[in-house]
Amino acid sequence: MSRPLVAHIDLAALAHNLSVARRLAGTARIMAVIKANGYGHGMLRVARGLRKADGFAVLGLEEAAALRAEGYTHPILLLEGFFHPDELPEIARRRLMPVIHREDQVDALSRAKLDHKVDVFLKVNTGMHRLGLPMPRFRDVLFKLRALPQVGAITVMSHFARADEPDIGVAHQLAAFRQATAGLDLPVSLANSAALMGYPETQGEWVRPGIMLYGASPRAGDTGEDAGLLPVMTLTSRLIAVQFVRKGEGVGYGAAFVASRDMRVGIVACGYADGYPRHAGTGTPVLIDGHPGRTVGRVSMDMLHVDLSDAPTAHVGSTVTLWGPGLPVEHVASAAGTISYELLTALAPRVPVQEY
Ligand SMILES: *Cc1c(COP(=O)(O)O)cnc(C)c1O
Repeated sequence: MSRPLVAHIDLAALAHNLSVARRLAGTARIMAVIKANGYGHGMLRVARGLRKADGFAVLGLEEAAALRAEGYTHPILLLEGFFHPDELPEIARRRLMPVIHREDQVDALSRAKLDHKVDVFLKVNTGMHRLGLPMPRFRDVLFKLRALPQVGAITVMSHFARADEPDIGVAHQLAAFRQATAGLDLPVSLANSAALMGYPETQGEWVRPGIMLYGASPRAGDTGEDAGLLPVMTLTSRLIAVQFVRKGEGVGYGAAFVASRDMRVGIVACGYADGYPRHAGTGTPVLIDGHPGRTVGRVSMDMLHVDLSDAPTAHVGSTVTLWGPGLPVEHVASAAGTISYELLTALAPRVPVQEY
């Protein structure tokens, strides 16, 4: 028998979550964000589950080329634009849409010899201060871009820094965006998952949901389930050993957990080299044969330990769910001081995937 750790990917859950996004998006088109290997689920696999989306967003040319090679004809947005002018002929030939976020990219476009016009998303920085033109330069750059024969349709976009924080939200950045784009009649793309779920006024022509499509909530304290989403990834393993630990004895590296009474401890084939967070300390939730349980001690490279005090029938071979239906990945993330995005995208290549 092989190592029992498996990531199960539920393609029907992806399609369900897309339909939730569709309902929230109104008339806006959906650019399904599948960067970072489809948030750890496998980019081509999730593209298949999300083929009814109106477009796909990835970081760059390589991912987009892989999608085109599989026959996807959807609009594809390159979230980091292009890095070098050499990429432009292929971007044009493959009909990809780069995000233009720096002025020198406009100059590169103006010098490029292209077979087709390139549709672009022009990004303005409205307060996130990551990618995007400074507000005072936005109009000049837009007019320059519009005048270029190399450029086709232009969509204006921005990205929210705090849409996931109920007390703060999008108001400030949305006002800045409206000011920057006042009087322009151009399609707009603003909303990530948090904005799509919380602020219908951000809809525009294209929404860009990511995390919600994978069934997790962008908001701290919430779970995807609360919003009617279904978890796409279930990470399961099995007990590969059971230890009897006496009161006062330690478990695992550093004896980070010491038994306060005699107890049984289960050893699970899943560790930080699989993508399980090492910072998840004693008390991180798990399901043992479907029943709530907890980890004890430090996560090691290939294994972790679970408390079997409340699972008297658990034995070598018992199933342990690390996250999935009934155990939101958000809860594991918060126990580890991080967010669901990080756990999902960290799934290690060595973990076998089963889709259903
Ligand atoms: C990653 C990303 C998204 C998707 O964000 P979620 O929080 O996963 O919905 C949308 N827009 C941009 C620019 C991004 O980088």
